[in-house]
Amino acid sequence: MDNKIRKSLVAGNWKMNGDTQSLEMIKKISKLDFHNNCDVAICPPATLLMEAVRKTSESPLMIGAQDCHHLEKGAYTGEISAKMLQDLGVKIVILGHSERRLHCHETNQLIRRKATAAHKSNILPVICIGESETEKESGLTEAVVIEQIADSMPDTSNHLNTVIAYEPIWAIGTGKTPSLEEIYRVHTAIRNHVRKNNGEDIARQIRILYGGSVKSDNSKEIFEIADVDGALVGGASLNSEEFSSIVRSVA
Ligand code: PEP
Repeated sequence: MDNKIRKSLVAGNWKMNGDTQSLEMIKKISKLDFHNNCDVAICPPATLLMEAVRKTSESPLMIGAQDCHHLEKGAYTGEISAKMLQDLGVKIVILGHSERRLHCHETNQLIRRKATAAHKSNILPVICIGESETEKESGLTEAVVIEQIADSMPDTSNHLNTVIAYEPIWAIGTGKTPSLEEIYRVHTAIRNHVRKNNGEDIARQIRILYGGSVKSDNSKEIFEIADVDGALVGGASLNSEEFSSIVRSVA
């Protein structure tokens, strides 16, 4: 596969971490020497979005959210719509993270509706898919992720409006990662699926990130895998030095 025709993306998912003091860290990351072949995003908790966008307005750093509602507005206490995120200047949204699939019972169908809402508001959804440890041990990895992507990616998706993140659940926050060969195999299967459904052009250009225990000491070899176009980074994105060095390891 002719990888690296695609611009990489490294996105930090802060999850439920960070307070107003952490805005300084976002500011620091926004001053990184961004190189042309890598987009960089930080997805802090919703409480920090507005100020994070304001503090980084001069920088190519994208500020992202960790979820959005599938409707524009209404009686949905506690929810935030994609349109509201757009109003703030948020550029990107993580959807279908395994923690939300598990703890908030999010289904592929719901994630698809959220991604459609993101598209309507010009926000780039990063649609997360990934198998559990049991599914991996049963040899079901490819089948599981293909079903997830088939059911959660809207038909209107293309390489400009959608990013896919392959995140094996058992690798998230555990320090365990699949072998480089396994990552390659799964990413290739995902891209082949996109080729079948959306055509060669979109398949060649859509970005597929890897996520799950990416750190500065394994990022370079992961980024060198054909078909890997960057990473969704959890724990390691909470340390600006560590996150910067992951970004710098993009070729
Ligand atoms: C994540 O939560 O998306 C993630 C990849 O976490 P970590 O990097 O900590 O494994």
